[in-house]
Amino acid sequence: MFFEPKIYSNMSKGTVEVICGSMFSGKTQELIRRLKRLEIAKKKFIIFKPTIDVRYDKNKIVSHNKDCINATSVNNIAEIKEIISDEEVIAIDEAQFFDATLISLCNDLANSGKRVIICGLDMDYLGVPFGIMPSLMAISDSITKLHAVCSYCGDTANYSYRIGTDQNRIKIGEQEEYQALCRVCFNKKKNCE
Ligand code: ADP
Ligand code: MG
Ligand code: ZN
Repeated sequence: MFFEPKIYSNMSKGTVEVICGSMFSGKTQELIRRLKRLEIAKKKFIIFKPTIDVRYDKNKIVSHNKDCINATSVNNIAEIKEIISDEEVIAIDEAQFFDATLISLCNDLANSGKRVIICGLDMDYLGVPFGIMPSLMAISDSITKLHAVCSYCGDTANYSYRIGTDQNRIKIGEQEEYQALCRVCFNKKKNCE
């Protein structure tokens, strides 16, 4: 039996793209790069971020090297569902802070022909997979894993090491609070604690 290709409709195929990596790996920069291309292409898109991320500006996502683009702050996925209308592309930064309802939302949006771009930390400060990110990676069509530069040895960094003793999983911070470290330096620092 031969496979017969079928074209079901003219509707564009939806996709879920994940951009992940440690802090300072350039996730937000990469998200903004993809979105600025959409601006040039005059595509309708919308960007969400969790209200928990109070760095810089409530109505913008801003990368550590100060690239920025307008965004809508939301408390939860239900708010995202209410706001979305006819955008072709839906982007979410800091996706690790949302709950599991984001997984079915991504699938529903992609199944209805939308392009979804998810950006988030793949591991927490202990090196443990972060919340729903592994599931989002599993249902995605493409994954871009980015790396920072190790603050100690200059090698490729996978980990977001927290300076200090706060043990809450969620702690919004900057360079005073976190360092990007490679596997070797991360393990050395952890063993010294
Ligand atoms: P993320 O969203 O992954 O935290 P951003 O896109 O906001 O990252 O920022 C990436 C930028 O961070 C880099 O282009 C660089 O200017 C800056 N930066 C600061 N510290 C580091 C580091 N240790 N490794 C790589 N980039 C760093
Ligand atoms: Mg970021
Ligand atoms: Zn290192």
